[in-house]
Amino acid sequence: MVTIGVLAVQGAFIEHIRKLNAVGVDSREVRLPGDFEDLDGLIVPGGESTTIGKLIDRFGLRDHIFAMASEGKPLWGTCAGLILLAQEVDEDTRGKEQPLLQLMDLRVRRNAFGSQLDSFETTLDVPVLGDTPIPAVFIRAPVVSDIGPDVEVLSRLPDGRIVAVRQGSIVGTAFHPELTDDDAFHRWFVELVRAGRHERSVATPTFSH
Ligand code: GLN
Repeated sequence: MVTIGVLAVQGAFIEHIRKLNAVGVDSREVRLPGDFEDLDGLIVPGGESTTIGKLIDRFGLRDHIFAMASEGKPLWGTCAGLILLAQEVDEDTRGKEQPLLQLMDLRVRRNAFGSQLDSFETTLDVPVLGDTPIPAVFIRAPVVSDIGPDVEVLSRLPDGRIVAVRQGSIVGTAFHPELTDDDAFHRWFVELVRAGRHERSVATPTFSH
């Protein structure tokens, strides 16, 4: 049995917990350092990335997240979670004093779809999940604007923009699989967690500026 934590300081954590229940895996809301005990994987949900980042530091959770990453335990950030995992945020979209975890060698652009189209649903090809496209909800979503050589692209929009990535044990999606009826992405992440320890992921900025 594995237990997957969902960071529950702000944002759309309940929906991830429900999805994990639906796919039959033990889950736990994570708010305090003690909640990390014996976790096998962690989801950093969508919400407001500056707020989540500040609460991570206020509640003393940063070192526990880093410990999981360095032990090769899978982490998955959705939307704001992806922003937090990034090494850098495009300067013109970065929040004032926005704390980042910087665990993935990539740069993101916040609110990349602008205010006119701030949320939409589409279907996406995600080859690691098989041949069937999945529904994807984007809400004031980021896109990945640059990646380093160790980052694998899991999905792009038809215009080529990168919206799902993996670097070793760490996964990021710009969209919210927890807000759809489909559970393919959660099942895939659970398999990653069940497969055990992965190569340690260490972000060192290598992309061009
Ligand atoms: N726009 C939010 C941010 O930049 C992310 C939105 C989301 O997580 N749905 O923090």
